[in-house]
Amino acid sequence: HAKSHERGQCVIFSREHEALIRDEHRLETALRHADLDGELSLVFQPIYEARGIGMTGVEALARWQSPILGQVAPDRLIAMAERLGMINQITRILFAKALAELPRLPDGIGMNFNLSVHDIASPETVHDLIGMIGESGIDPRRLTFEITETALMSDCAAARATLGRLRKLGARVALDDFGTGYSNLGMLHQIPLDVLKVDRSLAAEMTTPSGRAMIAAIRSLAQSLSLECVIEGVENDAQLAEVSLLGCRYAQGYLLGRPMPMGTLLRAVREDRRHAQPESAAA
Ligand code: C2E
Ligand code: MG
Ligand code: MG
Ligand code: MG
Repeated sequence: HAKSHERGQCVIFSREHEALIRDEHRLETALRHADLDGELSLVFQPIYEARGIGMTGVEALARWQSPILGQVAPDRLIAMAERLGMINQITRILFAKALAELPRLPDGIGMNFNLSVHDIASPETVHDLIGMIGESGIDPRRLTFEITETALMSDCAAARATLGRLRKLGARVALDDFGTGYSNLGMLHQIPLDVLKVDRSLAAEMTTPSGRAMIAAIRSLAQSLSLECVIEGVENDAQLAEVSLLGCRYAQGYLLGRPMPMGTLLRAVREDRRHAQPESAAA
């Protein structure tokens, strides 16, 4: 709609474009001025053993309650933080919160924490995370760091080094959203990994013959590389049944439990039942 004449150039923006640019700008301003420690928090989504043995871990997921924008989706938060060079700082803040919550969980339950490509590309950040684990006194074997394929693609050597340091401590590394990226399979055995997390877009296809074949192939790949396999985004009983039929050991999804505040999660653990309350439930 708006036309801007600049050095003889004519750029035509649509209304939608204008709105997008304005939203991005508002997001940038809100993030630059945010009280990060006060506005960021974590919710936790359970990870279950698919055969019904129980909760084995939780994934920490960031939430940003901005006084200006309200709730902002973590994908948008992370992408903007990466663009503004704020991600390492945000990761440190979130990880401190994760380490503070972890001791509230029973000993047998571990915690997954998501790292950005910019985190594993930064030796200083990983050094700081390792220092924080040491200070917390938490057994590093209770931690799993989740990274995405794109994170690995961009700088394989740097990622290998930093992930190697985390694994040397005893922490584990999971490849997140597997099956959505370029799936450079050659990379799978070059990168130190412990877990494959199969993206929920594949879980959604799992009850069709071709979807089942895909999961079966991923499962045998995981098995031959000695990787554990988690199916993400399990939303119904049919999908959960497939997970164990196909021999994948772990499942995560709304059927088993939504992301929720630690207090809510602990009540679910105590009551030892699968839990599907909304994440807005009181802590
Ligand atoms: P992710 O790490 O793959 O996390 C799983 C996402 O799927 C979460 O979205 C979760 O709420 C959602 N989910 C889980 N089960 C189901 C289901 O059954 N159905 C559907 N439709 N969705 C399900 P969320 O919390 O919005 O997070 C989105 C992404 O933002 C995460 O994807 C992760 O890539 C990123 N993220 C979240 N927290 C952090 C963080 O602390 N650090 C970094 N670097 N990234 C984070
Ligand atoms: Mg994740
Ligand atoms: Mg994922
Ligand atoms: Mg994801």
